[in-house]
Amino acid sequence: MAARFYMGIDVGSTASKCVVVDELSEIVGKGLYPSGAGTVGPARSIERALAEAGIVQEEVAGVCATGYGRNLIECANGQMSELSCHAKGASSLFPGVRTVVDIGGQDAKVLRIGADGRLENFVMNDKCAAGTGRFLDVMASIFECKVDDLSDFDARSEKALPISSTCTVFAESEVISKLAQGESIPDIVAGIHASVVERTNGLVRRVGVEPDVAMTGGVALNAGLRRRLADRMGCEIKTSPLAQYNGALGAALFAMEKAPA
Ligand code: ADP
Repeated sequence: MAARFYMGIDVGSTASKCVVVDELSEIVGKGLYPSGAGTVGPARSIERALAEAGIVQEEVAGVCATGYGRNLIECANGQMSELSCHAKGASSLFPGVRTVVDIGGQDAKVLRIGADGRLENFVMNDKCAAGTGRFLDVMASIFECKVDDLSDFDARSEKALPISSTCTVFAESEVISKLAQGESIPDIVAGIHASVVERTNGLVRRVGVEPDVAMTGGVALNAGLRRRLADRMGCEIKTSPLAQYNGALGAALFAMEKAPA
């Protein structure tokens, strides 16, 4: 019998992510593309995932969409909430995980996962850019660097300069002033990371820390920030190079569960 494949697409505010799994739940293809406006971003992420898997869309037996733009996905034959997909994906990427810290482009959330892998509780900040990837993107643009480079700056810091503004717009002015005063970029970046960590830790405390703890979302790729968060929370934080695909992976696994046998 021909192999069966299932697809999950997470249309996030910043990036569209697509994952293809086989019937053993193994990831065989993945694709990421900036979301932008309309359907181009999600379509490109699908093309990339199919190309990596070496298959065509007709070979996919079920497609599940999630994320804020999930209604854009015409080829989807199911949709699931982002929270359910993140819980599902994390349980697969990090077996035994009980606390998931997910920081994406426009929101930050902390999920409590039950022993059965289901979502038990969560808290979310989707009202304010501070403490999200957007905050870090704005800061990287001030330094004219990529968001990927912030971690290396942090590694070269001697102290974290406190950033007192909690609002992204005011924090941007504060950072520009610090630069004008001749403060070092690594120390400013360390302060920016410390400010995101404080916000995140506030969310974490409302859910409570239960090991294992994992970090997902694009911001999980920032090792410097992750290290500071682990220090603040006083526990180990697991992650994976696939952390940004976590929601799409959960969606793909739901597509498999819901597909007719
Ligand atoms: P969404 O699902 O809301 O689109 P993602 O989970 O895809 O968000 O995360 C996007 C955010 O991740 C970006 O705003 C950026 O700050 C951050 N990010 C993406 N890639 C990297 C990277 N290589 N290093 C550090 N941060 C990253």
